[in-house]
Amino acid sequence: MDYNKLYIDGKWVEPNSTETIEVENPANKEIIAKVPASNKEDVEKAVGAAKRAFETWQYEALDKRIELVRKLKQEMENKKDEMVRIIMDELGRSKAFALNPQVQPYIDVMDDFMDIAKNYEYEVEKDGFKVRKEPLGVIGAITPWNYPLGQIIKKIIPALLVGNTIVLKPSQKTPLVAYTLAECFDKAGFPKGVFNMVTGAGSEVGDMITNHKDIDAVSFTGSVEGGRKVGEAAMNGIKKVTLELGGKSPAVLLKGGDYELGIKKTLNTVYNNTGQTCSAFTRLLVPEDEKEKIEELVVNMSKKYKFGDPYSEEKIVGPVVSKKQFDKVKKYIEKGLDEGANMIYGEVPKDDSKGYYVGPVVFSDVKNDMSIATDEIFGPVLSIITYKDKEDAIKIANDTTFGLAGAVFGPEKEAKEIANKIKAGTITVNEGNASHKAPFGGYKHSGIGREGGIAGFEAFLQEKAVFS
Ligand code: NAD
Repeated sequence: MDYNKLYIDGKWVEPNSTETIEVENPANKEIIAKVPASNKEDVEKAVGAAKRAFETWQYEALDKRIELVRKLKQEMENKKDEMVRIIMDELGRSKAFALNPQVQPYIDVMDDFMDIAKNYEYEVEKDGFKVRKEPLGVIGAITPWNYPLGQIIKKIIPALLVGNTIVLKPSQKTPLVAYTLAECFDKAGFPKGVFNMVTGAGSEVGDMITNHKDIDAVSFTGSVEGGRKVGEAAMNGIKKVTLELGGKSPAVLLKGGDYELGIKKTLNTVYNNTGQTCSAFTRLLVPEDEKEKIEELVVNMSKKYKFGDPYSEEKIVGPVVSKKQFDKVKKYIEKGLDEGANMIYGEVPKDDSKGYYVGPVVFSDVKNDMSIATDEIFGPVLSIITYKDKEDAIKIANDTTFGLAGAVFGPEKEAKEIANKIKAGTITVNEGNASHKAPFGGYKHSGIGREGGIAGFEAFLQEKAVFS
């Protein structure tokens, strides 16, 4: 794969920019590629191509659009092993974790989007007038590094199916899997300009895309800080914007519930992907008189997770993505100790000379106003917080600026009652499992809008009332 090029107007092109960005393997700090740091001319070309393509793509027959997405899915199946390998290298996942949850679910979810596209009512007649649903135009898709393929798929597939065209800017930390995806687009035979990709830093290329007059809507996934800037720029340009941002989600263990089930599900979200999952249940809320018992279970169950070199075993939790992330997680672990939390498992990461390895850390005696409980750390760090009674549990769960996800584990009726009172876009109760078919997104600072399901499809449509 030639990583020196950009994918614009249906072909691989030399960038106008001569600047590049290095892509580092976090497991061993090797520089594995350099990609263009695109400049204004590159962004102009990509947006121009997408704008021209929109003139015809918006009127393309739905069946034809679906057929092309089906071909794309086939090309992705053909290149699945390559994508798994790339995610191992650029994100530091082991093979099994690179396949699932990083690659396979997002190939599979394409069928759901095709089904929605096929069955959706694009024109509804009611009360003597029609409402038509039409595409928005050119979509700027700006994505993060923690699910480098998945976050792209969740945006661009529904957007394309309903007739929008795309300018994608993947994360500069993990752009390589997007190159393989662009190759799949090329092979699937999409009309030129329907899908375009430029690479570069968010504050530069992301900002140029967001502020471009011919970008009609922006779909952003990333940090609250980035989302705020993108949101402001989008509002200035009166563009529709979707923001999928961070979280600090609670999992509530109720007396009488299956503690092991709740802890296992919590730890899976906090440890797998080395804590770099927006919806991880990083605050574990436990009844105060059961604290010791739960602490012991958490420590024993934490020991079962293997952390280390992602190339050493099929299923092992690898490093965090970058030096920046390593330093951030380390700083929060130190802060947790400074603030008086009790580290009952793990240690302060010391050495990053061989790779950005951070083991699991469990803090107990955490107060909900400590920074390890208020801030998104984005590392494998769990905070155990005690509550007095149900009301207290709900109050603590909701006492956060975020509202992305949450979980309640306990007797079914009580658990559901509490789940209904937690202010978050996604809630898991006991054995429930999250689905990519469901809408996903945040309350409060976790974002605006939804991805996935019908809501994530309608995010790329606008309504026209027709009186005839
Ligand atoms: P980030 O905000 O640093 O970057 C995300 C993307 O936005 C990158 O492509 C980046 O280059 C770009 N960007 C950054 N600043 C920008 C700006 N001013 N203008 C335009 N583009 C800009 O986030 P990250 O570190 O890549 O990702 C981690 C964050 O993403 C976490 O906070 C995580 O919770 C969040 N996230 C949310 C979801 C969700 O669905 N809610 C999913 C995955 C990740």
